Amino acid sequence: MWRSDETTVANEGCLSLPEHYADVTRPAAIRLRYLDHENEIREIEAKGLLATCIQHEIDHLDGVLFVDHISSLKRGMILRKLQKAKRSRVPEHV
Ligand SMILES: [Zn+2]
Repeated sequence: MWRSDETTVANEGCLSLPEHYADVTRPAAIRLRYLDHENEIREIEAKGLLATCIQHEIDHLDGVLFVDHISSLKRGMILRKLQKAKRSRVPEHV
């Protein structure tokens, strides 16, 4: 519903991109409305680590990963390393 103009930088990682981390700049504070586990509409304001985590998770719902927020150079480095790691895990045909 709202995000602060003030930003903050956090070193983020993700189970979708294991063992890779990058500094991501996001709004420092947010306000959001959500449905809780009892189907009640709630609103909260969050800042700090909670605000970063919520934005990271909402990004997932939109198909966005933390690497989509960093430079294409850094994103390319991480994605190439993951591809290389993936290839090395696949057993070779004999
Ligand atoms: Zn994630």
